[in-house]
Amino acid sequence: MITLINNFKQHLFMCVNFVWVLIRLCYIHVKKIILFRKSRDLYGGIECISMKTSKSSSRLEYIPIPKKIFILVDDIIVLQKKIIVDVGQSVLLGQVLSLGYKHIAPIHSPVSGIVTKISQKKYNFFLNKRFSIINIRSDGKDTKIDSILMSNYKKFSPDEIIQLIYNSGVVGLGGAGFLSSKKLQYSIGNAHTLVVNAAESEPYITSDDCLIRNFAQEVIQGCQIIVWILKIKCVLIAIEDDKNIAYIKIKKEIKAFPNYKIYKIKRIYPSGSSKQLIKILFNKEVPLGKHSTSLGIVVFNVSTIFSIKRAVINGEPLIERIVTLSDRRLSYQKNILVRVGTPINYILKKCNINYKDNSVVIGGPITGLIIDDLSFPILKTSNNILCLELNFMDNRLESPCIRCTACSRTCPMRLLPEQLYFYSKSFDHNKSREYHINECIECGICEQVCPSNIPLLRYFRKEKLKLNEIIFKENMSKKFKKLFVSRQSRLNSSGLINENIIYSSNNLDRVLDKKVVCNTDIEYITIEKSQFMRKKELEESIARAKLKRNIE
Ligand code: SF4
Ligand code: SF4
Repeated sequence: MITLINNFKQHLFMCVNFVWVLIRLCYIHVKKIILFRKSRDLYGGIECISMKTSKSSSRLEYIPIPKKIFILVDDIIVLQKKIIVDVGQSVLLGQVLSLGYKHIAPIHSPVSGIVTKISQKKYNFFLNKRFSIINIRSDGKDTKIDSILMSNYKKFSPDEIIQLIYNSGVVGLGGAGFLSSKKLQYSIGNAHTLVVNAAESEPYITSDDCLIRNFAQEVIQGCQIIVWILKIKCVLIAIEDDKNIAYIKIKKEIKAFPNYKIYKIKRIYPSGSSKQLIKILFNKEVPLGKHSTSLGIVVFNVSTIFSIKRAVINGEPLIERIVTLSDRRLSYQKNILVRVGTPINYILKKCNINYKDNSVVIGGPITGLIIDDLSFPILKTSNNILCLELNFMDNRLESPCIRCTACSRTCPMRLLPEQLYFYSKSFDHNKSREYHINECIECGICEQVCPSNIPLLRYFRKEKLKLNEIIFKENMSKKFKKLFVSRQSRLNSSGLINENIIYSSNNLDRVLDKKVVCNTDIEYITIEKSQFMRKKELEESIARAKLKRNIE
C-alpha cells in the first residue's frame, strides 16, 4: 500500500512538473510572439498592393549604351566653378566631369566620348529646379580611365577608404542621395550596428530585389567594407517577407558570418524609410532632429552598399544603376542596368514602349514625379520608371481640405499634415518649422489618403526648400554678424574705430545679402535676384502707402 502511495506521489510530482514546464514554455513562446509583434508595430503607414512580379527581379537586362548622354549638374557646382571639362574635350569612361562641393558628390563620365555642349535648363516638374547639363557624345568604345582601387582594403586606413568612396561619387541610392562618405565619417566611433536596408516598400519597384538576386555576394563584400571602416559588431539585413529568393541568397552568403542576421519584415509602406526600419527592428525611435547614429545604428541601402563595394574593390565610380521599368497594369515589368545620364525616351524606345501614349513617372508611384520632358536623364537616385496611360491623373482635381484627419492618422512621423498644408500654402514658414516640417520623410502617404486630392507632398517639398534657404541665410547672417562684432571689438581695443561709419543691422543685412550668392539646395539667390526682390518689395510698399492715403 505504502509503495503504491509512493508511486502515485512520484507520478503526480512528474505530471505537475511536466505541466509546469509546458506552461512555462508556452508562456515564453507567447511572450516572444507578443514582443516580436510589438517591436514590429509601425505607427501609421499603409498596406499597398505590391505590384511586383517575381520574374522581373530574377533577370537583369541590358540595353546598348546611348549615343547621347545628358549629365545633370547642380547649379551651385557651376557657380562654384567645379565643372572641370570644356566643350570639345574628349573624356574617358569614369573621368571626373565635376568636383564635389559640400553635400554634392563628384560626377563621372558614364561613357567615353566628347563633350559637345554645356547648357542650362529649368525643369518645371522638378520644383522648377535649374540644372546645368553636360552633353556627351559617346564614341561607343567605353575606353576606361585608370582608376585607383583598394582590393586589399584592410591595408588602408578608414579615412583613406572613405576618401576613395567620396572620389567615386557614391551617394545613398535609396532616394535621398546623401553622400555615403559623409555618413561613414559621422558614424566612425558612433555606430555599433549596421542595418542593410533591402526593404523596397513602394509598389512596382524591384530594383533592389533584382540586385540581391544577381549580386548577393558583392553586397556582403560591401557590408564587410563598412564593418571594417566602422568596426561594426552586428549586421542586420532587413528584407520584406515576399522576397523569398533574395532572402535565401543572402542567407546562403552570410552563413560564414556569425554576426550577420537577416530579418523578414512585414510589407507595409514606408518600412523602407530608415527611421521606420529602426522602429520595426529595434522598437526604438530616432530622436527628433537627430540621425540614427545617435542610437548607435547606421542604415545603408543595399544598392549603396553594392556601389561601395564596386568603388573600393573594383575601382569603379558610380556611373550606372539598376532601374525598374513597368506600366500601371504590369503588362511588362523588367529591371535594366542603365548608365547615369541615359535619356528616358531612349530607354523606352529600346524596350519597344510607345512612349507617346504614356505619361511617365520617374521614381515610385507614391513619391515619384510625372515628367513633362522625356529627354530627362536617369539620375543616380532614379530607381524606377512607371508608365501610366495618358491623362490618367487628369481626374484628380484638387478640392479644399475637409479636415478629415486621414492624413495625420496615417503619417508615420506623427506629424499634422493638414496643419503643415495650411502653413505651407500661406507661406507661414515659422509655423511650418514649429510643426516640424523638416521631419517629414516625404513618403507621400498623406497625399495618397487625402480625399480632397491635395498634392500635399508637393507643398511640403516646396516649403522645405524655402525653409532650407531661410535657415542658410540665417546661419550666414549669424556668422557674418559674429565676424563683424569681433572686428568692431578688435578695432575698439586698438583705438582704430572710424566713428563716421555706423553699421545698423539693416545695413549689415544688406551687406550679407550681397555676400549670400546662392542657397544650399535648389533655388539660387543671385545678387540680381535679391535686387529685383528688393525693388519689388519697394514697389509693393509704395502701392500700399498710396492705397492707405486714398482710403484716408
Ligand atoms: S509626406 Fe510627410 S507629412 Fe505626409 S505622411 Fe509622409 S511624413 Fe507625414
Ligand atoms: S486628408 Fe486631406 S482633406 Fe483630410 S485633413 Fe488631411 S489634407 Fe485635409
